[in-house]
Amino acid sequence: MPKIKSMLKKLELPIEIYSDRKELCGEDFNLITKAQEARKLAYAKYSNFKVGAAVLLDNGKIISGNNQENAAFPSGLCAERTAVFYAMANYPLSRIVKLAVVAGKDDNNAEPVSPCGSCRQVLLEYEKNQKTSIELLFSGTKGEVIKFFSCADLLPFSFDEKNLK
Ligand SMILES: [Zn+2]
Repeated sequence: MPKIKSMLKKLELPIEIYSDRKELCGEDFNLITKAQEARKLAYAKYSNFKVGAAVLLDNGKIISGNNQENAAFPSGLCAERTAVFYAMANYPLSRIVKLAVVAGKDDNNAEPVSPCGSCRQVLLEYEKNQKTSIELLFSGTKGEVIKFFSCADLLPFSFDEKNLK
């Protein structure tokens, strides 16, 4: 069987779903709360779709970010990469333990939102570099939280440096 087919057949992802963020452990609840706070500061005047992200590093620091839009649309950046790039620019020797994302146009979005393809690609490279999994928490502005245990689960059959050789 071709490698990709066997990979795709294994896509039973280990996830946890929490119907309310109050069910999360203290560390996860704290990170979701930081992402929620960061979302409020997003610069999203064109889409009105505000996203906040918070990264927990193994040194205990929490770095948050939000989406930054621009009149020249491709010049903006997602919340996830804003937070992760800042974290890795300032703490390049640290590992990312987990990332939380909160998104929605208003405070009534109960639908968890997962990262775009570019953010998945970026997260996966850092996960591979650090050789330990990055946990991911996704939530709307209220309600359900979905937890993943590895960025690799979000991007099977990914492109990486091996493809450049
Ligand atoms: Zn993105």
